[in-house]
Amino acid sequence: MKVLVAVKRVIDYNVRVRVKPDASGVDLNAVKMSMNPFDEIALEEAVRMKEAGTAKEVVVVSCGVSQCQETLRTALAIGADRAILIETDVELQPLAVAKLLKAVVDREAPELIILGKQAIDDDCNQTGQMLASLADLPQATFASKIEIDNGEACVTREIDGGMETLKLVLPAVITTDLRLNQPRYASLPNIMKAKKKPLDVLTPGDLDVDISPRLKTLAVTEPAGRKAGVIVPDVATLIEKLKNEARVI
Ligand code: AMP
Repeated sequence: MKVLVAVKRVIDYNVRVRVKPDASGVDLNAVKMSMNPFDEIALEEAVRMKEAGTAKEVVVVSCGVSQCQETLRTALAIGADRAILIETDVELQPLAVAKLLKAVVDREAPELIILGKQAIDDDCNQTGQMLASLADLPQATFASKIEIDNGEACVTREIDGGMETLKLVLPAVITTDLRLNQPRYASLPNIMKAKKKPLDVLTPGDLDVDISPRLKTLAVTEPAGRKAGVIVPDVATLIEKLKNEARVI
């Protein structure tokens, strides 16, 4: 089985995000960038499948600026066999990424495609679903358990108020939730070995995909600051305030 994993380069989750003074977006200048955490989980799952003998090859793909190569090298150090960068400086929205991934799926014909459930920069939660639709493949989103057997994937999904189990015929698209696994770190020897693994660079033009943005960002603003709290002298005052001043949400 060939597994394709989509990895996005995003602002590291520890960074305190700054909005640009002209409200045109988020300031990416001199900011630490990392692999989207849900994509680390997707990659970990694919690498475990390879270690278990369920998968033969793990291919990672990223779409974006040339620096995404760093993210792909990390993925290769974690255990992917091969990487593909679809390089562009154009701002990519989920539909454009889904179209690019669809073109890669057509070329590579993977049996399984794993994405994160969402990217922590745009929080869109759209790309996996759009890809499944464009490629006309079954999909299971928010996976917390995946079992592959006999050309089928049995996926436990996290849904409001419980779990749902779906059986999908492969090829299929799966997106990962937080509880699927605990991703590993790349070891130093593997980081060195990853430098020699193949990384192909393509452009959206090579794949004949139109990536022009369909949405226009009007303004990006900081959330309103929270008002300072009040220290109450005793429990009776607290209860009185809760009864009379608490807002009904
Ligand atoms: P989103 O729909 O933007 O929340 O992203 C969901 C998932 O799609 C991510 O976790 C990635 O697996 C994949 N994805 C989104 N954008 C990219 C990108 N530029 N390159 C590679 N994968 C991406």
